[in-house]
Formats: sequence, C-alpha cells, structure tokens
Amino acid sequence: MEYYILNVKPENYGFPLKKSQIKRIKKYSGDGNLKLVSITSGRGCYGRCDFCAAANLMRRNFSPNYVVDHMEYLMRTYNVNAFNFTESLTLSTRKWVKEFCDEIIDRKLIIFYIPLARADFNYDEETIKLLEDSGCIILGFGFESGDNLMLRSFNKKTTVERYYKIINDFKETPIAVGGSFILNMPGENYNSIEKTIRFIKNTKMVFSFGFAYPYPGSSLYRFAESNSFCNLDDVMFKELNKRLPSRQAFEEYIHKYNFNNLNKEKIWKVNKLLLKLYDYNFLYNKNALLYFLVRIFPFCFEIKKGFIYLKNLIYSFLKRVAEFLKIKNLLKKLIHGLKFKK
Ligand code: SF4
Repeated sequence: MEYYILNVKPENYGFPLKKSQIKRIKKYSGDGNLKLVSITSGRGCYGRCDFCAAANLMRRNFSPNYVVDHMEYLMRTYNVNAFNFTESLTLSTRKWVKEFCDEIIDRKLIIFYIPLARADFNYDEETIKLLEDSGCIILGFGFESGDNLMLRSFNKKTTVERYYKIINDFKETPIAVGGSFILNMPGENYNSIEKTIRFIKNTKMVFSFGFAYPYPGSSLYRFAESNSFCNLDDVMFKELNKRLPSRQAFEEYIHKYNFNNLNKEKIWKVNKLLLKLYDYNFLYNKNALLYFLVRIFPFCFEIKKGFIYLKNLIYSFLKRVAEFLKIKNLLKKLIHGLKFKK
C-alpha cells in the first residue's frame, strides 16, 4: 500500500488550531511540522440522512486495536504524526471511543487526529478528557442546517439546541468543533437558509458547506428521479457535493437541481456570503485579534483561501494613481481631438 504524506507547518494548515495546540505540536513533532495522512476506522454510518449514500451502509467499525496498530505503523515507519479520518463516521459508540483513546494513551503515541461524529454521539466528561489526552485536535460534525424543521425533514434526528450544547461542552477544551452544512435540500426556503447563516455567525465555527446532490442510492436521488430532476446517467460519478465557487459551476448546478424553485440570484448571493463567512470564521478561530482588525480595517487586508494578507498599501495607492492618470490621458486625448476638429 502506498501512503501520501502531507508535510505542513501547523500554522499554515487549514486547521483552526489554537495557540496551545500549535505549541504542543511543535514540542512533540520534532521539526514542528504535521505529517498528515488520511485514514479510516470502518465503513458506513448508522444515520439515515436523506441526502447521503452512506445511509445505506450499516456501520461496521474496525477494532480500536486494529486502527491504532495502523496508526502506530505509519508513525514509526513514515514519521506520520497527524491523522485525518476521511469517512462517514469515526466516533460511533462510547465504548469504541474509550478503547480507541486508551490504546493511544497506553502506547504513549504522540499523535494528533481529526475524527468525525454525529451530533447524537453519546459522550460524557470522561470521553472528552480521553479525546483530549489522546490527541484529538478537531472534531468534525455534519450539522447540515441551523433550522430544526429542515433537520427533521431530511431525517437528521437531532436538533439545533443539541448543536449549541456540543459547542458549549467543547468550548473550554483544546478540541475545536467544526461543522459541515448542506443547502437546497427539498423544503429549503429563505427562512431556513437565514437560520443556518445565523447559526454559523453565532457560533463562529470553522465550517464547510455544499449543495445537495442526488447521489444514487440516497433518498434524495429517489425524490429527484421521481420528480424528473435527473436520471442515473446524469449523476453517476459526475457530481460531487461541493462548494460552488465559480458562477459557471453554480449555473450548471441550479439549472439542474433547483429543488425548491428558489431565486437563482438570491442563492448565488448566499453562496458568496457563506464563502466570506468561511474566511472570517477561519480567521476568528485562528487569531481573534487579527479577526478584529480585519473587521475594523477591512480595506487593509485581503483574504485568500483562508489566509490573510496585509495589503501593500503603497503599491495599491500607486496603482490607483496610475489608473487615475490613465483616465487623465484619455481625457487629454479627447480634448485634443475636440480642438483638432475645430
Ligand atoms: S450524513 Fe453523516 S450522519 Fe447522515 S447518514 Fe451520512 S454519514 Fe451518517
């Protein structure tokens, strides 16, 4: 098996790492870099969310021992020190989580990892402590929406109130809570979108978002097919649930899958707003002071892919002057032309 190892400095990676976490990583990871690989802890999910193809796969965990063996092997052979669980669900039962964390702690592995959980994950104080001590740095949740009606309508089996509790429970820990959201599920309207935006703003969480695609096998696919939005050839292996940063990608999407007959321009604005919020929340989690400065003096900064740059103000000023002079030259030419005509 081949492993692809991402070697990055913690402060340059897309994690909302806290200062104490960066310090810890630098202390324990030799050269201070995260050497990160993707890993899985099992298959499927016990959730039954309408938009998700994993809802058809029963959850089967690998044993905690097996997963930690794998991590230890990567750590000892390739000096890997960070693990990103890329799957549907990592933290399933409290018993599994306890054994998994104990394995890491007993073997004295100094590693960092990012697991995924559902909001109904049955944790207690001991679980949080174990996650913390075993190196969990971010805990990812599929929050999906900030509106209880939407959560109920696509069978998420949880509530926004539960989300607030989770965020509160992890607030004082070094573990950052991240969330992903889905837009345009059947039943979505401006009110539910507004509630999702408000939730993201209130919690200032690091998040990702995507638009609902009818994956074959999901309930959403059956809905889309029976309402003539798509057929299997249309979507099979072609579409991904992703952010739609380009106008063209957005146009293609909304042309096919406007499940709720929403106004195209309004949804495009929501997309743009969420992209902005993504950057702001990222900054907020990384560096509160910087976030504050960005809000007060937005014209001094530019934000690219979650990173912030101080604009070169002298350069921007000279560029503006040059642009102005160009207009001046044009005016001169025009005036000259008029004189000539006389
Ligand atoms: S969306 Fe998440 S919780 Fe729901 S079925 Fe899929 S993997 Fe499970």
